[in-house]
Amino acid sequence: MLALITGASRGIGRAVALELAKNNFDVALNYNHSQGEAENLLNEINALGNVKAGIFQADVADNDQVVEMFSDIKNYFGVHVSVLVNNAGLTRDNLILRMKIEDWQTVINADLNSVFYCTKSAIRDMMKAKYGRIINIASISGLIGNFGQANYSAAKAGIIGLTKAAAREYASKGITVNAVAPGVIETDMTRAMPEDARNAIINNVPLNKIGEPQDIANAVLFFAGECSKYITGQVLAVDGGLTMC
Ligand code: NAP
Repeated sequence: MLALITGASRGIGRAVALELAKNNFDVALNYNHSQGEAENLLNEINALGNVKAGIFQADVADNDQVVEMFSDIKNYFGVHVSVLVNNAGLTRDNLILRMKIEDWQTVINADLNSVFYCTKSAIRDMMKAKYGRIINIASISGLIGNFGQANYSAAKAGIIGLTKAAAREYASKGITVNAVAPGVIETDMTRAMPEDARNAIINNVPLNKIGEPQDIANAVLFFAGECSKYITGQVLAVDGGLTMC
């Protein structure tokens, strides 16, 4: 079975791709700028020796590039994408008063519109096969909002709405759509946060530590496989208990 992971070159996407490959999914690895990292990941997966893998450069914020990527993936693997992991994302943090319109749009395009574009490109073949798994990487920012992240929180809340709408639209076609909402996970994205802001969040985490990309990969594997077959339209927070209510 073929899985596409967007933003697989670094961080969470990389861990997800490795975990799926270790569990015998063929993997299409999307990246945008980090070609060297994507090639390293491809080598690592090829060394496992059990699955077929390929790397595909595309800016998923651009629908034309997404359409072309899906066509390239189908040509390369000879099968369609059965598991779509919408992981690619970026941040452009600032207070609303200081946030440039361009930074609002960049985040909405890369983090939210990309999920719509990839879902639209994946869904027809999934419907024909009467099987599909779509896993969207949201964020706890989309559940509770985050200071200085109006663009990112809006995009991630949008992903949660999109997840539920798509889950309702395609449930009858054997397609499940779920979201994983990470808390603070150790990647380049959070390493870029100011130390005091990061520590303030971690101090509020009941499990009292930052999460690892592998924690998210484990949740994605669950939604990608048969163990979750009666679950759709759900948002699983993987956040050390930070947002429990
Ligand atoms: P990261 O280390 O910064 O990696 C981001 C990945 O997304 C990179 O592989 C990057 O590819 C890719 N990407 C970004 N924009 C892209 C685009 N337009 N087209 C294609 N690929 C693109 O971030 P991360 O922490 O792993 O985050 C992964 C996902 O988890 C994101 O959706 C993020 O919002 C979400 N998340 C992360 C945390 C956290 O604490 N880390 C918390 C909540 C949610 P290139 O480098 O090749 O450009």
